[in-house]
Amino acid sequence: MTRSFREIGMLVALVFAAQPQLASAQDIDLVDVTLVDGTGAAPRPHVTVSVRGGKIAAIDERAQSPANGVRRIDLGGRYLLPGLIDAHAHIESPAAALRALQSGVTTARVLGDTHLQAIGTRDLVRAGHVPGPELLVSPGHIRPKPGLAFFTVYTQFGDAIDGELRGEDRIGEATRALMARGADVIKVGASERAGLANTDPRKPELTEGEIRAAVTEAARKGLYVAAHAHAREGATNAVRAGVRSIEHGTWVDDETLAEMKRRGTFLVPTMAVMSPLGDPQGNSADDVALQLRTQAMMGPLRAAVRKAHAMGVSVVAATDGSYADQDDTGRIRIAHEIAMLREHGGFTPIESISAATQNGARVIGIESRTGSVRVGLEADLVVYDGDPLTDSKAFFEPRLVISNGEIVVEGTGL
Ligand SMILES: [Zn+2]
Repeated sequence: MTRSFREIGMLVALVFAAQPQLASAQDIDLVDVTLVDGTGAAPRPHVTVSVRGGKIAAIDERAQSPANGVRRIDLGGRYLLPGLIDAHAHIESPAAALRALQSGVTTARVLGDTHLQAIGTRDLVRAGHVPGPELLVSPGHIRPKPGLAFFTVYTQFGDAIDGELRGEDRIGEATRALMARGADVIKVGASERAGLANTDPRKPELTEGEIRAAVTEAARKGLYVAAHAHAREGATNAVRAGVRSIEHGTWVDDETLAEMKRRGTFLVPTMAVMSPLGDPQGNSADDVALQLRTQAMMGPLRAAVRKAHAMGVSVVAATDGSYADQDDTGRIRIAHEIAMLREHGGFTPIESISAATQNGARVIGIESRTGSVRVGLEADLVVYDGDPLTDSKAFFEPRLVISNGEIVVEGTGL
């Protein structure tokens, strides 16, 4: 039996309907925007950005005549930016994913996971069952003492539960284990954590050789490694081992910054998350030692960011936050980090926007499909009423958030 063209047409329609993100994407003309495209280019006034099939189809200086079946939104000169990228977050639930999206974040790199909740949230978003940013996840944090939750998922390493996960072979094996759980990126510990009272962030963790084992294994599947590193020696080890990014980098020295510039290693400082930890009314209020230590770390971290920026190292904005309620780090937004980059890092407004958009896409390795406003890229966009160049508070109030061409936040009166 041969099928009529009409029947074939219906089959094609059904196939497309099975992809929820495409099905709900709208064709939209965003008329009269002031475009800040994320690449570092100067703002362009009175631009029309056309969205078709979830992608950016055209960027025009002149307003187009209204097209059939296309929603036309006149933005009256409001600011249009690429959707923000949070390059270091700890999103582990659909509720947190929704909050991130509502704050203008359309892509997030999730560095670590508890019981594969981030992986599950990523997959729910990916399948279109819950709204959220696109999530790129490391389903664990590989370090000598990875904690109980790690061992309940990766039980094959259980013999190290009271000791240390050590040695190049085992770190390579752990990297393969994370990839078997669906890793998009691998996080390793190059120095101890700062957010706990019983760890010492000045102490290095994995050795250069161990980190290199992770980098080598990850590269076989085309994945990058992100290294948590506060300590000088830890950051140096990680950079030499070939990681994609240094997370935090509080005590990174000039020599290692120069090496980062040479290799193209990114710095993801997460300055803003320090504030609630150092705040007498924040979540370490009961722990004066942790509070004082955090306050003592802020100066060196800010100095490292200023130096990195002056030397031309690529710096990326990120929250290190959970977007969860009842958690002080859950209140941190990319807006806070953008303000810190301007205030303490020596960033111009345009540079700080690139740090939160295009640089985020580059550290993840997805700049060919998102992170800037260019024809052919995914329509991940955010619109602000206020001027985000003169006032970083404008980032707290997105008027319109579009993810893959789908309007996910729409303020009234548009
Ligand atoms: Zn983190």
